[in-house]
Order: sequence, then C-alpha cells, then structure tokens
Amino acid sequence: MKNYKIVTLGCKVNHFESEAIDQYLKNAEWHDAEPEGKADVVIINTCTVTQKASMQSRQTIRQAIRSNPNARIMVTGCYAQTGTKEIKKIKGVHDIIGSALKHRIPQSILSSPESKRPDSPVIIVPDINREQLFKQTPVGISSKRTRPFLKIQDGCNAFCSYCVVPYARGRSRSMTAEDVLEKIKLLSDSGYKETVLTGVHLGCYGKDFSSGIKSLYSLLKRIEESGTINRVRLSSIEPHELTTEIIDLVASSSILCHHFHIPLQSGDDQILEMMNRPYKAERFRELVLQIRKSIPKAAIGVDVLIGFPGESEEAFDSTYELIKELPVTYLHVFPFSPRKETPAFRYPNQVNNAVVKKRCKKMRELGKLKKKKFLQQSVGKTTEILIEEKPDKKSGLLKGISDNYIIVLLDGSRYLKNTIVKVRIDKVFDDNSVMGILH
Ligand code: SF4
Repeated sequence: MKNYKIVTLGCKVNHFESEAIDQYLKNAEWHDAEPEGKADVVIINTCTVTQKASMQSRQTIRQAIRSNPNARIMVTGCYAQTGTKEIKKIKGVHDIIGSALKHRIPQSILSSPESKRPDSPVIIVPDINREQLFKQTPVGISSKRTRPFLKIQDGCNAFCSYCVVPYARGRSRSMTAEDVLEKIKLLSDSGYKETVLTGVHLGCYGKDFSSGIKSLYSLLKRIEESGTINRVRLSSIEPHELTTEIIDLVASSSILCHHFHIPLQSGDDQILEMMNRPYKAERFRELVLQIRKSIPKAAIGVDVLIGFPGESEEAFDSTYELIKELPVTYLHVFPFSPRKETPAFRYPNQVNNAVVKKRCKKMRELGKLKKKKFLQQSVGKTTEILIEEKPDKKSGLLKGISDNYIIVLLDGSRYLKNTIVKVRIDKVFDDNSVMGILH
C-alpha cells in the first residue's frame, strides 16, 4: 500500500488544486500517510505571494525531506515556478514542477512511484507566459471541506506593480461555463450545500473566450438559473469588476451569497496609481455604498495593503478614514512585501518596517471594530447557517456560516452537520465570536 502527504501553502486556488491531486491519488487507491508517519511521496504545493511565503515554502520543503528521508519529494506551486533556482539548491528534492503542469502530478506519481535520492532534481518548469488553456486535474469532485472551493479561473493579466502572481501563474484563462455548471451539479449531487467560486482574478472570468459565456456576470446568471446547489459564494472580486449588474443579480438571488470580498489595497489615489490599480478611492466609496443600499445585510470584506513605497502618513490616513467612514464589515490587512520580480521592488521611498507594523496594527484594530459593529447589528435577527463538519476548535460547539459570512456557534446535535438550519443570533462576545440559538 502506497501513501502520500500533500502540504499546501497559500491561497484558496492552491488548496483547490491540492484537493484535486489528493482525490486522484485516493481514486488510485493510494492513502493519506498518518500525520506523524512516513510517506512514499510528499507533494509540497508552495506559495510566493510574499517574501515570508517563499521562506515558509523553503522551510516546509526542508522539513518534509527531514521527516520523510525515503520519500519522493515533489515541489510545485507558485514558488516552484518563480524560485526554481533556490529550490534546486535544497538537497533531497526529486522533482520541481511548474504551475502549469501541476495537474499532471498524479499521473507522474502513478507511472513512477519509486524514486532514488537524486543528485539533482528533475525540473519541469515551462514558461508560464505561454499557457493559454485552463487546466485541471482530471477527477470528479470531492473535498474535506463542508464548503468546497471550485477553481473556475487561473492567472492574471493585471500586473499590479507589487504582485508576483502573474509571473507565477501566467495569463488569465477560464473554465468553460458548461464545465462550471457540471462541477456545481456534481458537488450538489455529492451532498455539498455550498461552493466557493475561486480564481486568481475572478473578475477576468471568460474574457479569454471568443464565444459563449464570456463574463462573470453571465456565468453567475446561468448558475442562478440552474438552481442546482443551495449556495454559491464568490471569493474576492476587484472593485472595477464588481458591476451594478452583478450586485443586482446577487441582491435578487436565492443562491448567490450576500457576501463580497473586495481588494481595495489603498484609499489614496496616488498610491493606487503607483500600484497600477485601475480605479480611484471614490469608485470604491460609491461601490461600498451601492452594495449596502442594494443588500442591507451584505458582508463587505476588504483587503488593504499597508506600507507600499511612498505611502506617507497622509496617504495611510486617507485609506484609514475611507474605510472608517464606510459600512465595511471586516478587513484583511497585509504588509507590503517587496518581490524582486516586480517594479515596486525598485521604487524609492520604501517604508520603514516599524512604521508598517504600527500602521498594520492600527488598521487591524479598525477591522475588529468594524466587525463588531456588523455582528452586533445582527443580534436578535434570524438567519440560515450551514453547519460545518469540524466543530469550533476553542469551544467544541457546532459552527455554522451564514450567507453574509457570520460564523455562528451553536449548541446542537452533531447530526446537524452539513445541514442548513435557522438560528437566531443571540450574543456577540468580546472576541467577536457569535452565539446562536436554533430557531
Ligand atoms: S489583480 Fe493585481 S493583485 Fe490581483 S493577482 Fe492580478 S496582479 Fe496580483
């Protein structure tokens, strides 16, 4: 009996791809190695979005080699694509496989499961810029998650001046609408109640097609009409791509979750221009107000990037004040990380680390307050939550998620797992956890 381990770093897209590899190997009667046990093959699906992510990817590879001295060590993902030379220096790696060939890993394992300790790794990292087709591991659908991700788009054409992703994942390419609808139906038939549509740049969905469904809006409309699954949630969508027609569709939909996650990055127009982000702060302001007007209960999450080169105290304050005044419901705050592949690496006026830390802290505090306010407004209201398979780690209680992204704890039977139940929001605790009562 052969067994394997997959270690995944990074985003939802990476996690989706790892799950597809996992399922393929399971279908071929390979088994998950015990957490502390030795594996025959270890796949490390790396990330490089920040310097820290690249460092963690290297650490994870070394750790895997130490813990599995006889395993075939296969490294793939975004850092394998951009940091091939660094990975090559790590003794004990068998294969380095570029982002575009990740989907072929399972077949490669099945065709040559044995591997001697290599003098140097086999490197298969083709030029990602040539990739034009959406590729996927050829398997059905299954996930350890209650709310599985579904990757419908890969790559990005935007080249924001700080972002390494286009160099790691290539140009935008999409799954056909027919395939998306089929996968959603498969998920629903397998008992899943919700799926999270993910992509590297979701708003670019379909722009690579010359006919058929060529936009995210048209795809969402088809999904809505098909009515095959209880819930569909969007992962992040750029401010300039979140159109009025998408907002109106979500507002009137019984399937599309009332939840938007929008990468703002900065509320200062000059910084946005330096970032190569094609919108102004005013557009973001109008957008958030429009969402709130159309969907009063919507969750509106926002990504903010702190400490971009040239971010003065005034520029930071503009971002802070913009978010403070708007009905944003939670924040994801990231410090700027200089990536040598990107133009921003060479920009003057890099911001001192201590200043970045201080600004991040201030912004995260604002995020907590925003969240508390949103959660408190929900107290006494009734909502539907999808109960997760895994209970809450801290309390051991059941944990469910509403369509507007409120995580509700519930004292109830484990038979409620993977069902949608009605609860009344009872209480918000100091740590922003929320208690509900079955309705
Ligand atoms: S839109 Fe910008 S930040 Fe997002 S993946 Fe593309 S380049 Fe990176």
